[in-house]
Formats: sequence, C-alpha cells, structure tokens
Amino acid sequence: MYIKKCNSCGETKPTSEFHKRKGRGDGFQYKCKVCQNKYNEKYRKVIRPDYWNHENGYFSDKDRWAYIADYVRADKDIKVYLLKVKEYFYVGMTKAKLNVRISTHRADYKNPKNHGRMPGLHGMWDTMTWDEINKSLESVIVLESKPGTRYEGYQMEEKWIHRMKEDGYELLNDKNFKRQKPKVNEVG
Ligand SMILES: [Zn+2]
Repeated sequence: MYIKKCNSCGETKPTSEFHKRKGRGDGFQYKCKVCQNKYNEKYRKVIRPDYWNHENGYFSDKDRWAYIADYVRADKDIKVYLLKVKEYFYVGMTKAKLNVRISTHRADYKNPKNHGRMPGLHGMWDTMTWDEINKSLESVIVLESKPGTRYEGYQMEEKWIHRMKEDGYELLNDKNFKRQKPKVNEVG
C-alpha cells in the first residue's frame, strides 16, 4: 500500500507521511505524521504534562531518554528502604536506583492512576505540605541491600516490615496489601 487515509484529518497521503508502527494492520499509524505530531504535543502539554515533567519524577522532552536509560540501567541490587513521615515510617523495596525510586514516589502520589494509590502513605501525605512531603522523601535510608530477584526483594521487604512492627514502629505500609505476582522485566 502506498497511500493511506489519515483517520484524524481525513486526507489521503503517501504512506511515507505516516509513522511506522510494528504489529499494526498495515504497519503504519492511523494518524498522518502531521496529526500524530500535533497529538504528541498535546499529549505532553495538555493531557499528561506530569508524565513528561522531569522535576516531578518523569521525563521532560529533553531528558526523556537519559531518564529512561538511567531507570533501566539501575543497578540490580535489591534495596529495602525506610522513609520517616512525621512520626510514622514507610518501608519500601526497589531494584531501581534509590533516587529514581524516590522520584517515582513523588510522581505516583500526584498520579495514582500510574500504579495505584497507597492509602497509608498517600493518606498521610494528604495532610502534609509539599515541603514536608519532600522532607519525608529526603529522609530515606537503606535498611538492607543485596543482589537478588524482585521476588526475593518482596520477601526482604516483608521481613523488614515485620521486624519494624515488632520493634514498635508505626508503619504506613498498607494493611492487607497483597503483592501481585512479580512480572518479568518489570522495573521499579
Ligand atoms: Zn492527518
């Protein structure tokens, strides 16, 4: 096929005027390049400006690829970390770089649609100013760090949650929270 009708502007154009898209019917986007680019711009600026905002944990245009690369390249050690949130505590686990995980905490709070709202931690943050929230994120310390799989990481996290509770710490980790089975290639 050499020509194709754009489903946005309705113009019929050569397929060279459409971005390629693997695994889709004819191998091209539904929208022509002009319309697709307009949409992408709208997506960044209007629909999901947060998603592209490096300061808040995700990527702005320029830093986008560096950020993704940094995230994916994360060293593979499991890190169980502790945040102090006012007089409470939160235990988390990540295999990403710690500063990256901290950034995504900020982004996930602003956009719970990404990974779901965490009632304990986010509920507490609801009562705090951004300064206080940022302070709680800066309070992060690593409780334990070692090589391992995500699954081992979850077990390590559980162990620390149990231990902290036994020691009388009030945790903001959600009660009755069941982890989903770890997915292959998942980062975070
Ligand atoms: Zn078009």
